[in-house]
Amino acid sequence: QIMTVDTSKLRQMDQSHHLHPFTDLQDYSEHGGRIMSKAEHIYIYDSEGHRMLDGMSGLWCCNLGYSQTTIIDAIHAQLQELPYYNNFFQCSNQPAVELARALVEVTPPQFNHVFFTNSGSEANDTNLRLAHRYYQLQGKPEKKLIISRKNAYHGSTIAAASLGGMGPMHDQTNGLDYVHHINQPHWFEVGRENESRDEFGIRVARELEAKIDELGEANVAAFIAEPIQGAGGVIIPPDTYWPEIKRICDEHDILLIMDEVICGFGRTGNWFGCETYDLEPDLMTFAKAITNGYIPLGGVMVSDKITDVLLSGGGEFAHGLTYSGHPVACAAGLATLQVLHDSNLIQTSGTEIAPHFQARLRELEDHRIVGEVRGRGMFAAIELVRDKTSREHLGPESEGAVFCRNSANAAGLMVRQTGNAMIMAPPLVSSIEEIDSLVDMLGEALDTTADHYGI
Ligand code: PMP
Repeated sequence: QIMTVDTSKLRQMDQSHHLHPFTDLQDYSEHGGRIMSKAEHIYIYDSEGHRMLDGMSGLWCCNLGYSQTTIIDAIHAQLQELPYYNNFFQCSNQPAVELARALVEVTPPQFNHVFFTNSGSEANDTNLRLAHRYYQLQGKPEKKLIISRKNAYHGSTIAAASLGGMGPMHDQTNGLDYVHHINQPHWFEVGRENESRDEFGIRVARELEAKIDELGEANVAAFIAEPIQGAGGVIIPPDTYWPEIKRICDEHDILLIMDEVICGFGRTGNWFGCETYDLEPDLMTFAKAITNGYIPLGGVMVSDKITDVLLSGGGEFAHGLTYSGHPVACAAGLATLQVLHDSNLIQTSGTEIAPHFQARLRELEDHRIVGEVRGRGMFAAIELVRDKTSREHLGPESEGAVFCRNSANAAGLMVRQTGNAMIMAPPLVSSIEEIDSLVDMLGEALDTTADHYGI
């Protein structure tokens, strides 16, 4: 009977029994939230019938929107055929095998193997297991330190939270002692006065080299990074950053792990962010858009350099999850890749919709509370300021951006706020008119916010 109770009852039960992720639990238990009840194309509806344009693709995952019947039908059909079986003990299943093969087709050529998980967090845990095993099998067990970046987001298990560089997460748990952090390539936030973007890009990239020297190359296993930091604020690195990181990785014996959980499957205009930035990772994390967000699935693409070692003896790789290669999730993944392939959507959204999205957002650069507009593909952020030159924030902490987000939500646009930035990742299936409507609603929220602060 749970589905038939009215909204106020549902909200009450939610407040009483449901602990929400990344939420102030006391505040939620007192005030509750919005019950989402239906979605179509790029629109979401709450239980009171309010319709919102989803400018975040769910949580950066429903890149193809909410009405993909091919994926829904594939899930249904697989549930009827083989709803579950594990991939331990010399067993496999057809969707897992076919998805492994299909992923090898769409990922860069160094990848011929995949390890499946249920989420991005577990996939990043798996990266650590793989990197450590790789060096252990070569008789270099001391090569285990991992370098990551401040303000990175790699998930919320203990290992993934340690890899991430989110202060509040580190404040609430003891991170792994073998993970070390360098600065992020966030020019607007940490660039120095009188330092060009390009100079800044080189300076922060060289922090990787300095960190490898400090820790000792013989002790460092890997550097992990998102091609574009998503949750940290859609941080577009300066043009000089990735080429310099690439040089440093090429000159040192460490693995490059690209976390493509957000960038993968078209977000930056190419299939993967590493293609946008011309990088050759040894390990690549994926999740989210692999099933268009309809059912949990994640994994790691593992390069030949690593499998050459893993497949050359040494016994069992002691790692796995009950649902690694779940047949239903893999059927959803296969159907998603089929839709991406048949629709040519990554190409059309990259060459037609994304340039329009970026150009329309750039029109907001002149707005009186906009400090910076940045973006790539269907991925963007707008920094809010009180003063364009001093970059002073609108209010204490992130208050201004929270106000702006609430205004946008009230106007019918689902966008998110991170720090003092508004962030957006609309579905790749958005039309030109829908992008116009997104930018118009955002513009109105900026006006309301500026008026509220008397600017
Ligand atoms: N890596 C990145 C880059 C992410 O953005 C996220 C989730 N937002 C994760 C990993 C973690 O994925 P999950 O929430 O599926 O564990």
